[in-house]
Amino acid sequence: MAGTGKFFVGGNWKCNGTKDSIKQLVSDLNSATLEPDVDVVVGPPFVYIDQVKNSLTNRIEIAAQNSWIGKGGAFTGEISAEQLKDIGCKWVILGHSERRHVIGEDDQFIGKKAAYALGQDLGVIACIGELLEEREAGKTFDVCFKQLKAYAGMLSSTFNLIDAVSSWDNIVIAYEPVWAIGTGKVATPEQAQEVHVAVRDWLAKNVSSEVASKTRIIYGGSVNAGNSADLAKKDDIDGFLVGGASLKGSEFATIINSVT
Ligand code: PGA
Repeated sequence: MAGTGKFFVGGNWKCNGTKDSIKQLVSDLNSATLEPDVDVVVGPPFVYIDQVKNSLTNRIEIAAQNSWIGKGGAFTGEISAEQLKDIGCKWVILGHSERRHVIGEDDQFIGKKAAYALGQDLGVIACIGELLEEREAGKTFDVCFKQLKAYAGMLSSTFNLIDAVSSWDNIVIAYEPVWAIGTGKVATPEQAQEVHVAVRDWLAKNVSSEVASKTRIIYGGSVNAGNSADLAKKDDIDGFLVGGASLKGSEFATIINSVT
């Protein structure tokens, strides 16, 4: 079963940029010609979201890079899903490996954030992916399924049955092997496709076959203008989450336009 969703490309700017460099990046994105049949989002650091939102002149949407697990209040340093919506964010990236492995967020905590953000009508780019030692130990699928199960479990315990299934309409799954992130060591199209197929099968068995075919499963980890076209040819690769290469407007546009 191949994916049927619209190609989706996200740029994860992480903790990069200044007012000036971001002004330049947005201006490059504004002047790029983008394939119309692709959903495009960029994830600036929180403090630049407003600047980016107000200066983009095309249809690119904004993703935040994190959100709090619940309603705002006395949570120093956090940003709530309601606030993100208020400033015009449509998406939030959750479960990124840097949040899991550098900051120490666990599956449950990430699942809660995802359920809360979905409940506030934000789309969620739900990241999953294995460490190098997990891949070498043959545990890639186990790790990815465990992370998926945490998202699915939190949706089922937060929403009623119908809403839990329909909330998948607003989820994009980003498979990002940790060993490929920021390393220049991209997964081969075959390696990525193998995991994407397994993720889709998991969705078919554990959620529904409709959700499995509709859900965009995107690949992230050292995607660049030189490798994106080959990756995009694979049936189950429905787009990309791009880090480093999304900081260069023309390269990001090439990746967006690599849809086949
Ligand atoms: P990268 O990052 O493209 O720089 O490897 C991808 C990501 O972390 O989303």
